[in-house]
Amino acid sequence: MAEKKRGVGRYISHNIAVDLGTANTLVSVDGHGIIINEPSVVATNRKTKKVIAIGKEAKKMVGRTPKSIIAARPLVDGVVSDFEITEHMLKHFVSTIHKNHRVLVSRPRMVVGLPSGVTEVEKRAVEEAAKSSGARRIYLIEEPVAAAIGAGLDITDERGCMVVDIGGGTTEIAVLASGGVVVARSLRIAGDEMTETIIQFVRDEYNLQIGERTAEDIKTKIGAVYSHSDTKSMMVRGRNVITGLPQEIELTSDVVRMPLSKQVRPIVDGVKTILEETPPELISDIMQRGIVVAGGGALVAGLDHLIKQETHIDVVVPKNALTAVVEGAAIALRESDRYKDVLMSSN
Ligand code: ADP
Ligand code: MG
Repeated sequence: MAEKKRGVGRYISHNIAVDLGTANTLVSVDGHGIIINEPSVVATNRKTKKVIAIGKEAKKMVGRTPKSIIAARPLVDGVVSDFEITEHMLKHFVSTIHKNHRVLVSRPRMVVGLPSGVTEVEKRAVEEAAKSSGARRIYLIEEPVAAAIGAGLDITDERGCMVVDIGGGTTEIAVLASGGVVVARSLRIAGDEMTETIIQFVRDEYNLQIGERTAEDIKTKIGAVYSHSDTKSMMVRGRNVITGLPQEIELTSDVVRMPLSKQVRPIVDGVKTILEETPPELISDIMQRGIVVAGGGALVAGLDHLIKQETHIDVVVPKNALTAVVEGAAIALRESDRYKDVLMSSN
């Protein structure tokens, strides 16, 4: 749909999909794909509250900021922790689309993916933030539903499917059928806790204090939760907490497997609990289609094997595990007639 704007030129009105994640925010524009994929981090001046950096630039500051700067995440544990900061971030990303990518969007329809457990107040907050970023019409979609669509599952028929979305702050476990959520649970344990566990473990075992970014590196490069995963190793630098001096050690995936597999236990247990609450007919569908595990946490080596071993159901990690939510949300908006039941709109 195109509309004429006071002689300035023709502006194409696009559909925009947003995945407002606890770790990463992704924005996709119809016809252009994913244009923004940046950390959900906003750095502000502690005193003046002025925003200093957003996204990648702000994430670089985490753990390195002087006391006067706070690098905050707008969403903590899947909950909108600071409305103004969320609004700021969304506005910034939408205006980046215009400025840096020369994609013209005028009063777009916008769909935002949200964890299925959010409150009405939080929904309002996100809608307000979306509105102030210039959206003409706002829809919300539950993240597990969006993840399923993005992973290529047909969720509109009566067959059941199970989606586990392991993000930074939350893990969403959901069984869907006929376009709706049948059983779901949101856990406050996900990728961030895995990173935290590594920091603790390295400190306890080696008296070595490492930063969050180093720990995340360890997790993504050599982290594993299942013994059949490949053994890898890496050098890790930090500060010895006893001598106070810099130190370098070698870590292997065998060593980090123990604390990591303990940390993902609640996720595996959560999947089993949801399966226990799932109607038998749907279990049969899930056994046929496999459990879809998405989100960045799905990429921890061996997690798919671990869940399969514990549930006796095949696990599918889609190629687009990190982008399934935004892609699914974009599809739902583009085909809004077909997906009208999963798009929530208050206006
Ligand atoms: P959210 O939806 O909450 O923003 P994401 O789905 O973007 O979260 O996932 C982010 C989490 O996934 C982070 O904790 C990050 O460290 C983790 N992650 C990303 N890639 C990998 C990987 N290859 N292995 C393990 N964890 C990963
Ligand atoms: Mg997510």
